[in-house]
Amino acid sequence: MSQPPCPDAQMYLAALNHLPDAVVVVDAAGALLLGNAAAEALFPGGLAGLGGSGNPSGYQLLDRYQHPLAMAELPLHRVLGGQCLQDEELLLVANTPLSTRWVAVTGRPLAGPGTAAALLTLRDISAAKQQEASLIEQAFRDPLTELPSRDLFMDRLGHALARTHDQPQVLMALLVIDLDRFQVISDSLGHQVGDQLLVEIAARLRSQLSPAATIARLGSDGFAVLLEDIATSSTAIDLAEQIQAAIAQPLLVQQQVSVEASIGIALGPAVYASAEDWLHDANAAMHQAKDSPNRAWYVFDSSLQVQQDLRLRTEIDLRQALLDNELRLHYQPIVTLNTEEICGFEALVRWQHPTRGLLMPGEFIHIAEATGLIIPLGWWVLAEACRQMQAWTLEFPAMANFTVSVNMSSKQFSQQNLVEKIQQILAETGFAANRLKIEITEGVLIDHSDSIIATLEQIKALGIKLLVDDFGTGYSSLSYLHRFPFDCLKIDRSFIENADQDFEKLEILQSVVRLAWNLGLDVVAEGVETHRHHAQLKALRCELGQGYLFSRPLAPTAIEAMMAEKIAQASSPATVTPAP
Ligand code: C2E
Ligand code: MG
Ligand code: MG
Repeated sequence: MSQPPCPDAQMYLAALNHLPDAVVVVDAAGALLLGNAAAEALFPGGLAGLGGSGNPSGYQLLDRYQHPLAMAELPLHRVLGGQCLQDEELLLVANTPLSTRWVAVTGRPLAGPGTAAALLTLRDISAAKQQEASLIEQAFRDPLTELPSRDLFMDRLGHALARTHDQPQVLMALLVIDLDRFQVISDSLGHQVGDQLLVEIAARLRSQLSPAATIARLGSDGFAVLLEDIATSSTAIDLAEQIQAAIAQPLLVQQQVSVEASIGIALGPAVYASAEDWLHDANAAMHQAKDSPNRAWYVFDSSLQVQQDLRLRTEIDLRQALLDNELRLHYQPIVTLNTEEICGFEALVRWQHPTRGLLMPGEFIHIAEATGLIIPLGWWVLAEACRQMQAWTLEFPAMANFTVSVNMSSKQFSQQNLVEKIQQILAETGFAANRLKIEITEGVLIDHSDSIIATLEQIKALGIKLLVDDFGTGYSSLSYLHRFPFDCLKIDRSFIENADQDFEKLEILQSVVRLAWNLGLDVVAEGVETHRHHAQLKALRCELGQGYLFSRPLAPTAIEAMMAEKIAQASSPATVTPAP
C-alpha cells in the first residue's frame, strides 16, 4: 500500500483499508496518490500501472457491451476533466494474470491547494452481475426447448456486431434453420407430438454444435445458430449439412416421423449495420432454400437480394394487376386418348404484365400464395373460366359437353364461404356444375385432412368433379386417397416423361393407373409429348391425356380459330381429287 503523506493519516488509512470498495486517488498527471487494500485486490497486477495518461496500463475497461472505451470515455480522464460519475457499470479486464471483474465506478474531482486530483471508488459487482445475467438467461429462455429465445439471441448478435465493428477481417456465420412441413405434422399428429418433436430437434441441434456456438429458438419451428470467428464459409456449410443429416434421422414420437430442415446462411458481421439486417438476410437465404427443390441450404449473396427485390416488385405489381385486369386465361385441350378428340380444357392463368410481357404462373403463383393474393386471383380464374366456357357453349354447339378444369390452391380451401362462392359463380355465369372440374394438389389434403373432407363433399354434391393434380409428387402415401371424394387422378408428367425409356417408370405408371381403376377413379395423363407416350398410355388403357403432342395451352382467340376451322372442315363438301 502507498505511503500516507503524514502520520496522522494512519487512522484514515486504516479506515480506508476496511472499506469493501476500492478507493484510488490520482493526480492531474495521472500519478497514483493513494490506493486502499480493496484497490490492491481489485488490480492484481499492482496499482503502479494505474497512472499515466488516464488509461490504466495492463488493464482494459469495457462498456456493458464489452466494447473497449475510447480515451475520452475513461472514468479517470472524465473526472480529471471535472465530471462526477455515479455507479457506472464497467468491465475491468486485467491482462496479467488475466481476470475480469464487473465494477460500479463513482468518481469526484478533488481540488487540493494548487493541485487537481481525481477520487475514484470502484465497487466489485461481479456477483450481482452474474446473478442478473442468469436471471436474464432464464427470462429469455424458451421454456419448451430451454434454448435462448429470439430476444436474447438478437442481443447476442448485437454484441457480436459491436465487438467486431472495427475488425472487418473477423468472419462469423448466422444460420437460420426452419423445419419443413412442421405445421402439417403438428396439426395432423397433435400439438403435443409437435412439442416433443421440437424438443428432440433442439437436442439434435445442440449435439452438432461446439460450446462456442450460440443457438436459439427463434419462433415456432425456427432455430438460429451463430458461429463466431470461423476461418472460411465452408465451416458454416459443413455444419449446415451436419445439422440437416442429424434432423433428417427418423424420430419416434408416438409414431415414426421424418422431418427435414431448410437452412439459410448469412456471413458477417462486416457487411451488417444491425442484428436485424443480418437476420433478415439469413432468413432470405432460408426461404430461397425452401423454394428450391434441390437445395436444402443457401448462402446469402447480393444477387439473392436482387431476386427478393424482384419478388417484392412482383407482389406490388400483382396487387395492381388484379385491379387493372391484367390476368389472362389460356386453355390447354384435354383429349380422349383413343380418339384424339378434345373433351375439355384446363384453364391456366397468365399475367399480361405491362412491362415484362406475358408471365407464366411459375413466375407469380408462389408469390400470390405467400401473400394471400391467390384468393382474389383464384376467384377471378374460376369466374372467368366459367364465363368463357358458357360463352363458347353458345357460340360453338360442338363444345356443349366440353369440361373445364380449374386449379385451386390450398390457401383457397381455408376460406369459410368457399362452397357458397362457387355456387354463386355457377349461378351468375350459367355454367353447368357437371362440366366443371376442380384440380387440387395433394398438399391440400395433407394440410387440412380432417376439415376438408366435408368441404370436398359439398363441392361434389353440387355436381362438380374433383381431381388430384400432379399425382405422385406429394409426400403422402396412397392410403389417404379412398378417404376423399375424388373422381379423377391426374398423373404428374414426371411419370410420363421417361416411361418410354425407363422400365421402372413404366412399371410405376402402370401401377398408378391400376390403383386408380381399383379406386374407381378416372385417370388423366399430363405431359404427353411424344407419339410413344401416347401409344404407351393407350396400351395402359389410360383414358384421357393432355400435353404438347396434342396442343400447348392456347389463348382464347386461338381456341376460337381452332373451333371455327373444325366447323369449316365439317361443313365443307367432300372433295374428290380428279384423276390425273
Ligand atoms: P398444372 O396444373 O400441373 O398445369 C400443367 C402445366 O404443365 C402447365 O404449365 C402446362 O403448360 C404444362 N404442360 C402441359 N403439357 C405439357 C407437356 O406436354 N410438357 C411440358 N413440359 N409441360 C406441359 P403452366 O401453365 O406453366 O402452369 C404451371 C402450374 O401453375 C400449374 O400446373 C398449376 O399448378 C399452376 N397454375 C396455373 N394456373 C393456375 C391457377 O389459375 N390457379 C392456381 N392455383 N394455380 C395455377
Ligand atoms: Mg392443374
Ligand atoms: Mg399438374
